[in-house]
Amino acid sequence: PFDVLVIGGGPAGAAAAIYTARKGIRTGILAERFGGQVADTMAIENLVSVPHTDGPKLVADLDRHVREYDVDIMNLQRAARLVAATAEGGLHEVVLENGAALKARTVILSTGARWRQMNVPGEDAYRNKGVAYCPHCDGPLYKGKRVAVIGGGNSGVEAAIDLANIVAHVTLIEYDSTLRADAVLQRKLASLPNVRIITSASTTEVHGDGEKVNALSYRDRNTDAMHRVDLEGIFVQIGLVPNTEWLAGAIALSPRGEIEVDDRGHTSQPGVFAAGDVTTVPFKQIVIAMGEGSTAALAAFDHLIRLPAE
Ligand code: FAD
Repeated sequence: PFDVLVIGGGPAGAAAAIYTARKGIRTGILAERFGGQVADTMAIENLVSVPHTDGPKLVADLDRHVREYDVDIMNLQRAARLVAATAEGGLHEVVLENGAALKARTVILSTGARWRQMNVPGEDAYRNKGVAYCPHCDGPLYKGKRVAVIGGGNSGVEAAIDLANIVAHVTLIEYDSTLRADAVLQRKLASLPNVRIITSASTTEVHGDGEKVNALSYRDRNTDAMHRVDLEGIFVQIGLVPNTEWLAGAIALSPRGEIEVDDRGHTSQPGVFAAGDVTTVPFKQIVIAMGEGSTAALAAFDHLIRLPAE
């Protein structure tokens, strides 16, 4: 069996595997797609101490760093079920989609999350070419430009307030007839001179010139009239979904489906840890996921050295 089996090969999982392998304990990392969300990213300018990188380059760097150590890398494999140990010190089992099962003394869950998409024409074609999902990451790329934020919940309104500081103009588009964000955020948003709020609006298409986004279309849900907004960027803020469907019933999840962890990455099951975007820890960022992965790895090591000798 593995001493530590990491499920997920994004920044959190890679950091966890590096930390445990450096302890000289038997480490495996299983990933549906090594690199995770980073593989879908273009410019990355907030990985502290690395002023500029991009997704493919960072994935290659993560891969190279993990391979410096004796880590069993199982890429393109999907975990389908976790069977946690029933007795203290017992083995946990991770069942893969292909039916195989892996056993481990500790497990670190780092299966990340995915941004909910609008699923409208043009969204895929212009992803990273004007269609963005992370204002902390990509906001500064739109300095002085016009953007839209799709979604009037807390994350959408926070994004609009944040972006209004940086960009020339923000159009906030909400599907419902009212915004759903906290009142204090809505008041702040309403006080900003360069923000326009459009409610009862359904985004129908992302337009571009073949290279970059130049407009979006929406349908007024009250009148059915179509409208076009000229702009350079669209931030989609309609939800971040944790990849925990496969863990339902095996481990405590928050109402939003995130794995509940304490400040050492412990989950509800002894010997099972979690890190990164999949957890309840706020602010989903690469540098935070790496820190959480390192924390979970050290906590797993702490757990292992306290187990009775075999
Ligand atoms: P992820 O990166 O989501 O990795 C999850 C891993 O788990 C993947 O390997 C996946 O294949 C695997 N997995 C999932 N389910 C299973 C399963 N059942 N079995 C096996 N493996 C599974 N952050 C920044 O700090 N700066 C940026 O500039 C930035 N830009 C971004 C741009 C885009 C377009 C996106 C989508 C995100 C961006 N982010 C950015 C956010 C950042 O990518 C995430 O916070 C970070 O990748 C989270 O790392 P993670 O390891 O927790 O999860």
